[in-house]
Amino acid sequence: MDPITALLEKVLIEIGPHDSGEPASYIPELAESDPNLLAFGVVGPRGRVMTVGDDGAEFTIQSMSKPFVLALALHTFGREAVFARVGAEPSGEPFNAISLEAGTGRPANPMVNAGAIATTSLIPGADIDERTAAIVAMMSAFAGRSLWIDESVYASESATGDRNRALAHLLKSYGIVEGSVHDAVETYFRQCSVLVTVRDLAVMAATLAFGGRNPVTRERVVSERVARDVTSIMASCGMYDFSGEWMLRVGLPAKSGVSGGVMAVAPSQFGVAAFSPRLDAHGNSVRAQAIVAMLSDRFGMHLLEPHESIAAPGISVQESAAGPVVRLGGELGFAGAERVLSMLREIVTAAPNAAVITVDAAELARSHPAAVMVLQTEIDSMAPRVRLLQ
Ligand code: GLN
Repeated sequence: MDPITALLEKVLIEIGPHDSGEPASYIPELAESDPNLLAFGVVGPRGRVMTVGDDGAEFTIQSMSKPFVLALALHTFGREAVFARVGAEPSGEPFNAISLEAGTGRPANPMVNAGAIATTSLIPGADIDERTAAIVAMMSAFAGRSLWIDESVYASESATGDRNRALAHLLKSYGIVEGSVHDAVETYFRQCSVLVTVRDLAVMAATLAFGGRNPVTRERVVSERVARDVTSIMASCGMYDFSGEWMLRVGLPAKSGVSGGVMAVAPSQFGVAAFSPRLDAHGNSVRAQAIVAMLSDRFGMHLLEPHESIAAPGISVQESAAGPVVRLGGELGFAGAERVLSMLREIVTAAPNAAVITVDAAELARSHPAAVMVLQTEIDSMAPRVRLLQ
């Protein structure tokens, strides 16, 4: 067994015995799920998928669909049009609360049901099937395989979904939902009934973690900006009225679903997903949360953990016949540019007058335009002694 899977197995053994909480009962089909199922997985930058436990178990995506429908809405209409209909503020209320802004009726955010129904209602399509197909296609691109719907969970949710219908009617009365309330709600129920495994969810989370590019298929699914917007909303609102505490303790943008899944995004590091059907009072899986919390702690994934590399690009200096060549590698951010400039000044001072100093930025994995601009300006001021290769 490889060392990372061995670490995951250890977490599984530690979390396994926890048996508090109950599967969701308000959707009859979900109450039938085996409460003992337990699985989780991670996907790293090179698209390696590592899963442990009952990783073949399929479950419905439920509220973990919400980030992907938000991604589709942002991809289709852009940020301003979407956030004119739905807010970006944590509601501090349960997932099914009537969290609407006084006066406008705008739902608090796209992660609570009211906001998710509003977001779903934006997705274009002639009927429920067409809209659902667009949503499932987007989710499938995130997962890297064709996903489909569990019709019995959909039927069960539609038969008992009066609270969501009431929310949708309220949204219609404020003009937030336009068109058919029935179509908006049924499309929402269908998106919640898409079947996934922890592997799928971990790949979906990883696609967000790696800026909208699926690390397994290498397909660009959404732009970096859309991925960042979705992840930002998950960070502030993904765990409902536990979102603030979650950020404090776990520090990862995440989204839970009443089927018992939790997926989390460690930007540029990992996509994470865990599944266990027993839920706490917030409707979040007890063991899935505990697993993500433990992984965040053990793998150092808290978002606000300090990192050196962004401020310290790789710098190596080689001598050539013309003069020193300063090669940059890794990531050049704004803070890193400052470090490069001070090194460069030292090199220029030390080099003989006739030497031409070359700064070779061609091998940078990533650079921020502001950092490049600062570097370029400084190098221009030192011309012709210093030149930049990009
Ligand atoms: N389909 C569920 C509902 O609307 C989703 C809720 C959830 O997963 N928190 O009630």
